[in-house]
Amino acid sequence: MSAQDTLDLLVIGAGACGLAAAVAAHDAGIQVAIVEKMDRPGGNSSLSTGSVPGAGSRYQRDAGIEDSPDRMVTDLMGVSRHHDADPLTRLMAEQSASLVEWLIDDLGARMGLITEYKHVGHSVPRLHAPRSRRGQDLVDDLLRCVNDRGIPLAVGNPTEGLVVEGGAVVGARVGGEVIACRKLLLATNGFAGNREMVARWCPEIAAADYFGALGSTGEAVAWGEQVGAALGNMGAYHGYAAVAYPQGSLLSWTTIEKGGILVSVDGTRFGNEDAGYSGFAPDVMAQGEFAYAVYDRRIHAIAEHEEEYAEMAAMGGVRWADTPQALAHAMELDPQGLAATVAAYNAAARGEAPDAFGRTHFNLAPLQPPLGVVRVKPGLFHTQGGLLVDADARVMRPDGTAVPNLFAGGGAAAGISGQSGAGGYASGNGLLTALGLGRIAGLRAAAEIQGRA
Ligand SMILES: Cc1cc2nc3c(=O)[nH]c(=O)nc-3n(C[C@H](O)[C@H](O)[C@H](O)COP(=O)(O)OP(=O)(O)OC[C@H]3O[C@@H](n4cnc5c(N)ncnc54)[C@H](O)[C@@H]3O)c2cc1C
Repeated sequence: MSAQDTLDLLVIGAGACGLAAAVAAHDAGIQVAIVEKMDRPGGNSSLSTGSVPGAGSRYQRDAGIEDSPDRMVTDLMGVSRHHDADPLTRLMAEQSASLVEWLIDDLGARMGLITEYKHVGHSVPRLHAPRSRRGQDLVDDLLRCVNDRGIPLAVGNPTEGLVVEGGAVVGARVGGEVIACRKLLLATNGFAGNREMVARWCPEIAAADYFGALGSTGEAVAWGEQVGAALGNMGAYHGYAAVAYPQGSLLSWTTIEKGGILVSVDGTRFGNEDAGYSGFAPDVMAQGEFAYAVYDRRIHAIAEHEEEYAEMAAMGGVRWADTPQALAHAMELDPQGLAATVAAYNAAARGEAPDAFGRTHFNLAPLQPPLGVVRVKPGLFHTQGGLLVDADARVMRPDGTAVPNLFAGGGAAAGISGQSGAGGYASGNGLLTALGLGRIAGLRAAAEIQGRA
């Protein structure tokens, strides 16, 4: 291979991580190309709600919200507890405001600060998202930047493996050919689409349906292990407690956070919904095949502002009735069980008795007739374990040295959502490490190639 044929940076995977990295690297002055396994780019990022935290962003300041990276670290560590990548939490918090400002101000992403609902795991409104709450809009904005810059993007081209010489990554095998590169970024997401790996690392959610993109089959873990990379937080994942069935769309967590409850087929609650949409997923998983979300018209009116919820409701996903008993009949739940549950929950919401499961956030509850019910299943969205990286997104070995030329970000890297389980995931953790580490990797690759690092 001649030096002229050697690409500066090869990005594997065209989701948020890969696209952000490619744009950052190009703008820093190096030559970059992206290869994508599937026939279209976007991965899980397209399926997400596109929400990205930015602590202390100018959009928060404009809205009169006081925030800081320190506050974000406290929030995230409060949810995740200590894990294998603690320093990454601080790094991401410190970078988060400049990241959302880069996306919106420099790259023209059509995003804004979300103030309408509480952000799971965050003590202040901190998430910035496309107005539509569709990650596809964010991906489209990044793709426009890639196209405008003339960055090559080859879809339908799975990478089959890394090319390694003397312990350093020097290329990748794609479609039987070798692409030589000076630096390589693994932006291939995690392994939630690989049943065997989920069963091995995250057994408690292995039986749940997977709602992410098909491309997330965990190659980065296997390739990382081949070059001696350290793995971290392998048991952590992002679940979702309430995917509407059979519609397959997310039941907005606003329905629960604003005062709704989740019950089993016998009409009884089974846990504290304050755990949030990810943290509550294992509880839903453990109680039976389906669960049922119960809330009222006032809550419905708020959730209806969200496109996906409105579509699900328009498809007939919500049944309404004037009493818990009638509502139970509509979904074949136990009528006495549901009536007693609603009465006890409403009493707790009025402060007349402690909540049976320790819930403390009731918002608009007590629930008022008419009541609505949606049948839901829990889902697996993505895994949060992967290759441990340093502050420059370089893949690390267990001895603390970097694997030469190899970067990882997003779901391919160990995340910031705790060591195991679904409870450590705060909203936005997925895209934050995808976009944040992708951008860092692009900049660092450029700095190394240009002799500045
Ligand atoms: C329904 C849903 C809602 C979500 N909402 C949010 C949210 O609002 N905020 C948030 O922060 N997170 C959210 N997440 C999580 C978030 O989507 C992911 O954490 C994030 O998109 C990961 O980005 P990524 O770039 O690492 O991976 P992806 O976007 O999945 O991109 C990885 C790409 O790599 C490709 N690839 C994989 N293997 C290969 C290979 N061998 N060769 C070539 N290409 C390969 C894949 O096909 C894919 O296109 C949500 C997830 C789901 C499923």
